[in-house]
Amino acid sequence: MIEEVKDPVIEVHDMTVTYNRKPALWNADFAIPKGKLVGIIGPNGAGKSTLIKAIMGLVPLSSGYARLFDQQPLEAVRERISYVPQKESVDWDFPASVMDVVLMGRYNRKSLFRWLTKKDRQIAQEALEKVRMEQFANRQIAQLSGGQQQRVFLARALAQQADIYLMDEPFAGVDAASENAIMNILLEMRSSGKTILVVHHDLQSAYKFFDWIILLNTRLVAVGPKASVFTPELIEEAYGGQLSILTKIGHLLQEETLPVREPQ
Ligand code: ADP
Ligand code: MG
Repeated sequence: MIEEVKDPVIEVHDMTVTYNRKPALWNADFAIPKGKLVGIIGPNGAGKSTLIKAIMGLVPLSSGYARLFDQQPLEAVRERISYVPQKESVDWDFPASVMDVVLMGRYNRKSLFRWLTKKDRQIAQEALEKVRMEQFANRQIAQLSGGQQQRVFLARALAQQADIYLMDEPFAGVDAASENAIMNILLEMRSSGKTILVVHHDLQSAYKFFDWIILLNTRLVAVGPKASVFTPELIEEAYGGQLSILTKIGHLLQEETLPVREPQ
């Protein structure tokens, strides 16, 4: 089930990524409309991180390409895209204050060495307030809890004022309060027209919050509105025989009694 999209903001064409000749992402081909909150779902090692790195041009492609805002190359639109990497992939032990990290969102490739203006600092301050971390502005990032760190990374992304956000597991290692805070901000960003792709591992909250789902297991299993992707058949196809997940999703669909479209 791959939904057709008119005027997409993200197009991925025949994209294959291999590491040491082993495919991590196989021939992915889909498009995403503007203004959706999109969950990227699939088992461990399914290629979720690889997919967003490939869209960002951070890993070499064996084939295919991504096109953002109908523009190529990526460099032409890079400032309009914000990428939040998976937390464990970044060494946050280096000495940087919370405000330093958020201000990083105000630098870009074109003007890495320009001075930060008062406006930049104001935007960073507002982003920190949005994630309710302003009282930690001078704290070292390494001293924060996992949930607080994720909120700071979200503030850095907000400070960038991008149009597309690609976030790799922003809810990993996050307490319930931070999870709610982050989810509310994502919903608010969507309301203001941003397109947001989020790698996420919990099917239940994915079903509750996301508009669209990209279901992945090295190859693309399905892409589209959540009601057409969350079918027992497609979930089983992505997760194989992981019974606990199938039972969970079965309950979820029963509880919601939402119309579930048959896969085409
Ligand atoms: P996910 O984010 O869905 O857990 P990844 O995209 O991180 O999956 O990884 C997909 C597959 O590619 C996995 O089998 C993983 O072991 C492998 N892989 C990821 N990054 C590398 C790398 N830098 N070198 C070699 N193999 C990698
Ligand atoms: Mg990953």
